[in-house]
Parts: sequence; structure tokens; C-alpha cells
Amino acid sequence: MYPVKKAIIIGAGPAGLAAALRLQKSHNISSVIYELRPTPTTIGGSIGIPSNGLRLLDRLGVYKPLTQIANTDERFILHSTTNDAILAESNFSGEAMERIGYGYMRVKRTDLISCLLDAVQREGTPIHYGKRIVSIDEQDERVTAKFEDGTQDTADILLGCDGIHSSVRTMRVDSTLKPEYSGVSAMFSLLRRSELPADSPPVTCFNSTFTTDGLLAIISCTASNDEIFWFFSGEVPVPESGENGWEEHRHKEVQEFKTSILNVLGQVQGRWGNFVREVIHRTESISFTPIYRLPLGGTWSRGRCLLIGDAAHAMQPHAGQGTSMALEDIFVLSHVLKHYPDGSVHDIFSKYDEVRRPRVTRIYTASEQNGQLWKKTGSWGLWFRENMVWAMFSLASVFGRKRGVIPLDDLIYDPEEEPIS
Ligand SMILES: Cc1cc2nc3c(=O)[nH]c(=O)nc-3n(C[C@H](O)[C@H](O)[C@H](O)COP(=O)(O)OP(=O)(O)OC[C@H]3O[C@@H](n4cnc5c(N)ncnc54)[C@H](O)[C@@H]3O)c2cc1C
Repeated sequence: MYPVKKAIIIGAGPAGLAAALRLQKSHNISSVIYELRPTPTTIGGSIGIPSNGLRLLDRLGVYKPLTQIANTDERFILHSTTNDAILAESNFSGEAMERIGYGYMRVKRTDLISCLLDAVQREGTPIHYGKRIVSIDEQDERVTAKFEDGTQDTADILLGCDGIHSSVRTMRVDSTLKPEYSGVSAMFSLLRRSELPADSPPVTCFNSTFTTDGLLAIISCTASNDEIFWFFSGEVPVPESGENGWEEHRHKEVQEFKTSILNVLGQVQGRWGNFVREVIHRTESISFTPIYRLPLGGTWSRGRCLLIGDAAHAMQPHAGQGTSMALEDIFVLSHVLKHYPDGSVHDIFSKYDEVRRPRVTRIYTASEQNGQLWKKTGSWGLWFRENMVWAMFSLASVFGRKRGVIPLDDLIYDPEEEPIS
């Protein structure tokens, strides 16, 4: 008999929704989800989910519905800056498809959330929106969360799935761990294919181009290729007025994005260059996000509260693993629960930490290393970068191999195969 019968989940992002699903389906633990926003998220661009995350979405029963709406072309293409050549073409997940049957998916954030929500609602899990947590107390082997509107709830455990600026973390688990700026920012937008000239080249997968100021990508994010997502990500210094100045900076970027990106994209030649400039011209509005991460080494649990996903280990998105890491967290927790059906909450959370931390550290470090390619460089640096990527991917293909964005072992990693002693 599990000592855990009910969980309070704070946050209805990918981590919170997936946690509720897994706990209910595999452990008969009922959850109640509390989300800060007044409604399910309607904002955000698209996210890429590689093989290790896709296999877990399948185990949650949401992979097949997602393949109906999301883009599953797993190729990424790097276009030359100086001519129409393709410098590199490979698969995001390398040879993972051949090994485990899952490749890569690019999905609109709203589509991912609504698929997970459908599944959670089918399980009958209640979700309360517009809920701001104000305190967490533990007494008599139970944890109680109180909300700003005067309501409260009590359960056996509380999962903080409330993202990088987690209130559960600051309020209860580790108030010392603060998000830090990665030095890199991103601007992005979604565009309907019909908004582009009819003779535009097809966009069916992830297309990218390095520039001296960062990387531009244009990606299909639907199964029918009727919507494209573009982002430009590069080094942006903290505003002169300090980190409180981001709001003003965001406003400026949003106002002036056409001039600033088109200036940078002036260096991209050929038909591809013309196309990317056209995409920017036709874009009406963008979002701007300075990319923050959490330093490694924080505390993930205290008492009956455990942090999951970005709340515990937000990393740079440059290995495309943030969502997959949140999913893996939940499957590791589930795996530990299965091994210790009678374990105390303390023992379960300690074992979770012991099993999970090395993997998180490895992927966090890989994301940070990949992020170096997004830093500003000169024209020689750009030449070197393009040739380095060309060499990395061409060498693999000479030997008949497909190289992914992180090592194959990491892309076929299965949290349920972690040895638990
Ligand atoms: C620019 C950018 C690009 C990215 N690209 C990718 C990608 O391609 N692939 C990928 O896998 N990952 C990507 N990521 C990372 C990915 O978005 C996150 O890792 C993932 O969303 C983490 O899920 P989560 O549920 O832990 O947190 P979140 O998605 O942040 O969800 C947290 C939820 O909690 C809610 N919340 C916050 N505070 C509270 C509170 N106090 N009370 C209640 N609810 C609260 C929020 O409203 C939200 O609904 C990217 C991130 C950025 C910034």
C-alpha cells in the first residue's frame, strides 16, 4: 500500500499535467492541480521534443494524438550564409528512430498543453485556475497549501511544477536558488503559411542559418505544414539599467524587431536569404524572451514537497531537452515509487534525487555547451562555426551514421531502466 494517496500539484505546464497523469494511471494516486494563470495557456511558440521525451509521452497516452497535429519530420537543415548550399542535414535524434521507434516532434506549446489537458480531464483530475499559493505547512504527515483567495487543500505530497520562478521553491524548498541570465535571448513568432507568397519554398522541418549575431530557425510546427514558427536567438547583454530593465528592453525589441533582424539577415545570401527576409517582413508581432536558467546544485525536496521540471533544474533550451527532462523526472519518481511501495516520503524523495541528479547534470551541461554556438562572433568565427558543424555532421554521414544534437545514448535513455538499489 503506497503511503501516498493524494498529491497537490502546483502548476499546469507540461510537468504538472504529466505528473498528474502518471500518478493516477500507474499508482492510483489522485491529484488536484492548481494553476496561477486564469485559463489554460494560450501563449507561447513551439517546442521541439526529441526521442527520449516522445517515448514518455507515448507511455502517457498522448503521443498518437500529438502526431495528428504536430510536425514529425525529424530532419534539421543548416543553410549556408554565403550561398544556397546546405551545409549539414541530419536528424535531431540521430539514429534513435531505428533504435527505439521515436524521432522528433515540433509542436505548438498550446497544442501540447491541450493534448495533455484532454488526457488529464479524461482521468477526472480537477484543475483550478487563477490560484496563487501563499503558504505551505506540514503537520501530522500531511502537507497543506493555502491560496490567496482563502481556500486551502491538504494531501500526502506536494509537487512544485511551477516553472523557473517557482513559488514552491522559494517559499518552501530552496529560497537560495535564484534564476540567472544565460547571456542569450530569443525572439520568436508563429506565422500562417498562407501569409507568405505562394511561390515560397516549402518548410517541412527545422531549417536554420548561423549569423554573426546568433541563429535563425524557420520550422514547420504542424502536421499539415500550414503554420511555421521562426526564432532568432543570440547573445544579448543585460540592459544598462540592470535586470529590472528587461521589460523596457522587451518593449524596444518588439517595436524594432524588423529593423534589427533584417539588419543581421542582410548577411544571408541566395534564395534562402531572400526567403528568411520575406518571413520577417510578413511577421506582424513577436515575443522576446531573455533566457534564464537555474544554477546546478540546488535542493529539490524538503519534507513532503518535491520540485519537478523547470522548478528544479531549468536549463538553456539549446539541447531541446527542457520538456523531456520534466517528463523524465516524473517517470523516475514513478519508478522509485514502484520499487519502494512502502517507503517513507523522505526515503522516496532521497532515492529520487540520487537517481535523477547525474542525468540532469549531464544534459544541463550539454545544453550550456550547445549554447556557445549562439554567441556573437565575427565573420571568421562564423566561417569556423559553419565549417565545424559541416565537419561534425559530414564525418558521421561518411561512416553511414546520423548524428543527433546530443549523444545517442542520451536520446534513447529510458528512466524506467535506471538501476534502483
Ligand atoms: C525560448 C525557449 C525555448 C524553448 N524551447 C524548448 C524546446 O524546443 N524543447 C523543449 O523541450 N523545451 C524548450 N524550452 C524549455 C521548456 O519550455 C521547459 O523546460 C518546459 O516548459 C518545462 O515545463 P514545466 O512544466 O516544468 O514548466 P513551465 O512550462 O514553465 O510550466 C509551469 C506552469 O506553472 C504555472 N505557475 C507558475 N507559477 C505558479 C504558481 N505560483 N502557482 C501555480 N502555478 C504557477 C505557470 O503558469 C505554468 O503553467 C524552451 C524554453 C524557452 C524559454
